[in-house]
Amino acid sequence: MDKQDFPLIFEHSKAGRTSYSLPELEIEEFDLKEEFDPVYIREEAPDLPEVSELQIIRHYTALSKRNHGVDSGFYPLGSCTMKYNPKMNEDVARMEGFSHIHPYQDPKSVQGALKVMYDLQSSLAAITGMHEVTLQPAAGAQGEWTGLMMIRAYHEANGELNRTKVIVPDSAHGTNPASATVAGFEAVTVKSNEHGTVDLEDLKRVVGEDTAALMLTNPNTLGLFEENIVEMAEIVHQAGGKLYYDGANLNAVMGYARPGDMGFDVVHLNLHKTFTGPHGGGGPGSGPVGVSEELARFLPKPILSEANGEYYFEEDRPDSIGRVKPFYGNFGINLRAYTYIRTMGAEGLKKVSEYAVLNANYMMRRLQEEYELPYTQHCKHEFVLSGKRQKKLGVRTLDIAKRLLDFGYHPPTIYFPLNVEEALMVEPTETESKETLDGFIDTMIQISNEAKNDPELVQEAPYHTVVKRMDETTAARKPVLRYNRPQ
Ligand SMILES: *Cc1c(COP(=O)(O)O)cnc(C)c1O
Repeated sequence: MDKQDFPLIFEHSKAGRTSYSLPELEIEEFDLKEEFDPVYIREEAPDLPEVSELQIIRHYTALSKRNHGVDSGFYPLGSCTMKYNPKMNEDVARMEGFSHIHPYQDPKSVQGALKVMYDLQSSLAAITGMHEVTLQPAAGAQGEWTGLMMIRAYHEANGELNRTKVIVPDSAHGTNPASATVAGFEAVTVKSNEHGTVDLEDLKRVVGEDTAALMLTNPNTLGLFEENIVEMAEIVHQAGGKLYYDGANLNAVMGYARPGDMGFDVVHLNLHKTFTGPHGGGGPGSGPVGVSEELARFLPKPILSEANGEYYFEEDRPDSIGRVKPFYGNFGINLRAYTYIRTMGAEGLKKVSEYAVLNANYMMRRLQEEYELPYTQHCKHEFVLSGKRQKKLGVRTLDIAKRLLDFGYHPPTIYFPLNVEEALMVEPTETESKETLDGFIDTMIQISNEAKNDPELVQEAPYHTVVKRMDETTAARKPVLRYNRPQ
């Protein structure tokens, strides 16, 4: 792309140029050094770009155009539920009564905000079929860890220190075994069967007296509903273990099935996924956790409670695992989720799941002609293709993902789940039109044809992006964040 289209103005800093004009000082000048520890006072001004306001605006606008978001194009990133973020949620989150309050304020002075959080807890408890919910965890992964710490506290309270293992399916999201490890457990794998769901025989084999919990996503990361969930819950419960529900895929079953009814003891939700919090680029997220009555005493404190119409933070929970986050969760994201739930209503949330599932099945059936579909039953809200056929022609799944960028699409999730070779995991979400789905499908078919006729074209993609193929690992591990990086 032409450099002119993306002027990075910071490189053109001119000494003395400013983007502000301040009125003349009306108060007496004040020497910082007299008031503060000199350690905190710079001798020299920081080396910041000196540019005009217009240049700053152009700089950031140019950067924003280099980005891809739900508001700029289709974003079928499987497992991440990149659905539209309704702008009404933003209006609510910006209301002064919510945005101009402080967490150290006396709870009596922020009763409205607390009521909203309390009602959100109740709604999430009803949606999941759980007894009590905390909004503290800041993301799904932190919810997983919080839930597992509660399960650990439960086993310890029963004197069952032998329960050291957490079972996770081979299709599980990487955060599941990671959270189990960080919570002090050993993660053990249970295999999937030929239908892509948990192999019951293998579950019976790995479950035992050392089982602390089974972590499960349902529908699983292949987008397939674990139909034997009730039997699985029985197997694990009979062995004395608990069931943990990874709620990242709730968008498929909301209003139709509740983890509490399936037999789960702990549930996390990703409000930034299912409940429209804007995400990507690392957050902010919100990962509320719901528990059964039996585990409620271990919830992180404080607990947001209500008595005689007054909302307050309850600290008197002697068995609590303690605080997991400063204050009470990511308030702004919780507000957006609350607004979404209230605008959709119970019927609306059911429709969300219906359309999410319909969209995914429509795409899957059209795409399976061109791409290998390893599991052929109907899917829920997402599905996983394999790029095996294209790989034989020398075109890898990574190449297909890069080629999609040329057409203005964010690629699907790739190389996950790990139990599918050359995986392409597509999650359209309910908010996209049929025309958008068809446009993406046609492009995927075109890329497959390119792989047959001109594989090099796909291997060399992308052609129309600002940067081509990056060293993503180095970009993540050693990011260059300074505008005037020393050479
Ligand atoms: C996104 C996701 C997680 C982790 O949630 P974060 O909110 O990103 O921490 C866990 N499991 C599955 C299946 C997910 O898709």
